[in-house]
Amino acid sequence: MQKKFAVLGNPIAHSLSPIIHQAFAKQFGIDLQYEKILVPEDGLKAAIKQFFDNGGTGLNITLPFKAEAFALAENISARGLQAKAVNTLWMEGNKLCADNTDGIGLVVDCANKIELPGKTILIIGAGGATRGILGPILTTKPQKIWVTNRTIEKLPLLQQDFPGIAIGAMDALPSAFDMIISATPQGLDDTEISLPQHLWHTNTVMYDLAYQQNHATPFVKFALSQGLKVYDGIGMLIHQAAFAFYQWHGVMPDVNSLITANAPLAHLWERGRR
Ligand code: NAP
Repeated sequence: MQKKFAVLGNPIAHSLSPIIHQAFAKQFGIDLQYEKILVPEDGLKAAIKQFFDNGGTGLNITLPFKAEAFALAENISARGLQAKAVNTLWMEGNKLCADNTDGIGLVVDCANKIELPGKTILIIGAGGATRGILGPILTTKPQKIWVTNRTIEKLPLLQQDFPGIAIGAMDALPSAFDMIISATPQGLDDTEISLPQHLWHTNTVMYDLAYQQNHATPFVKFALSQGLKVYDGIGMLIHQAAFAFYQWHGVMPDVNSLITANAPLAHLWERGRR
């Protein structure tokens, strides 16, 4: 019987998760349905219940619902507990189970792009994505991770949950990080982005967790305008999806062959490898 999967979010139209999971499923001859569901801001609990009541097997959760999904889940992986935000749901018996595969997805993607041990890293944003990536990045032993956020009042709580990090307002950050990660949804609109120049040096690697199918995100455009090496979130997206797929199906897809076998993804992947 065809198993049902979906990604819940708001907005959701930009999501590539259906294409990625269908391509992974093809590698194993698995027949599945994977849809995108736009959920109203107060509708997550009802949407999750409806999906599993109707025989669904697995859900991905995206912006802005990862923290709320964490609060609804009953069995949560160590990564999810640490992040207090989850992106992968399934049922075991009548219990809602959850994991967070974002951070492991980013770290695996970075293996091809930048060595994290010993590096100074700045993360902009303090939402669900930042919570998901902090634990796995900290395990790679960077020299220091700083986090800044538009609403600085949110930072002390983040630091309480991740005591290894430093926090500060944008205008109070030290200079010249080896890597700057944008973990805000600013890539989803056409806002212009600008960052204080003292934050980077000529070899700084910029990484936008956001991605756009048809054009570069504002953060990527900004990094390119400064002559910096930059990646968008496509690589992380594919790797986090691979870990979610493994959770649901018990088999690990081959990310490289997915990329070479799927022309639109290959295009996006290459574009993300500037
Ligand atoms: P979230 O929980 O809603 O958090 C959003 C964060 O961005 C908050 O810290 C928020 O600051 C900040 N923010 C929002 N709008 C902003 C603006 N105009 N200027 C400055 N800061 C702003 O979202 P999230 O789940 O963390 O997701 C963040 C981004 O990461 C999204 O674009 C998402 O698509 C992307 N992402 C990508 C992947 C991937 O696999 N590539 C995985 C996860 C997430 P305040 O606290 O001030 O509101």
